[in-house]
Amino acid sequence: MSVGVLPGGYWDAEERLHRDFELAVLTGRDEELLADARAPRPAALITEVLSRCVRRLGGISPVPPEVARGLLVADRQYLLLHLRRASFGDVVRAHLVCPWAECGERVSLEFSLADVPVEEARRRAPAHTMTLTAEPLEVTFRLPNGADQEELAELSASNEAEALTSLLARCVQRLGPDGDRPEQRRIAELSATARSEIEQRMHELAPSVEQSMEARCVHCGRVIIAPLDIQRFFLGELRTDSGLLYREVHYLAYHYHWSEHEIMELTRDKRRTYIEVLADAIEVLNSGA
Ligand SMILES: [Zn+2]
Repeated sequence: MSVGVLPGGYWDAEERLHRDFELAVLTGRDEELLADARAPRPAALITEVLSRCVRRLGGISPVPPEVARGLLVADRQYLLLHLRRASFGDVVRAHLVCPWAECGERVSLEFSLADVPVEEARRRAPAHTMTLTAEPLEVTFRLPNGADQEELAELSASNEAEALTSLLARCVQRLGPDGDRPEQRRIAELSATARSEIEQRMHELAPSVEQSMEARCVHCGRVIIAPLDIQRFFLGELRTDSGLLYREVHYLAYHYHWSEHEIMELTRDKRRTYIEVLADAIEVLNSGA
């Protein structure tokens, strides 16, 4: 179990803020879920993983999917970082080609996830109000969350401009003196300056997790900025192919006579440690030592 505090926080319906969390490490069951996911819908998968692994968030336990979905984008990334560190350790290895033209050598980089810069929310509130300077309008908005990521995933891939408008329309809760949520048409009609003012303010207020890592090339000594898309990295790394997972389960069940249920509750590390121990033992037997 790993514990921490979200850089942002979750506001429930009664406007109470929940920030401290308890996180269980991933088990074979969680890996099975990820391996089985047919359609690549990363945001929805992350929601599922988080609602399984976050055991408590402030006063909320267990954490249902709608809460995991309602977490701010950076809070979800932060939880993934924690989950990865707790489940598979802190070190990330990346193999890439040095992007400096005169160098172009292959380099292996090592990062510590503890070094990923995290910025806390500047101001915590369920919603924020600002007055635009481009137009004399008062705008109330909330910050983007997992539900927005899930809803807009497809649209962002096909039409980014429209996805941004939809995101603003989802987040803006009040525009001008009338108290109703504006229709998407109203948002689309805002001037580009007005929209970028709102986006800028959202960006300033939201917590953030750095999405790139800095390292030095061992060949040319120059600085390399390696992108670290935490969501994609996490899912890519976790996608044990299910065939391998089931072979591992079979191997342990066969030799130790543990039930499938028991084996699937093990973490990947534990499972593989037992497999290594077994492999050594079997080798010793075969060599007649
Ligand atoms: Zn280099």
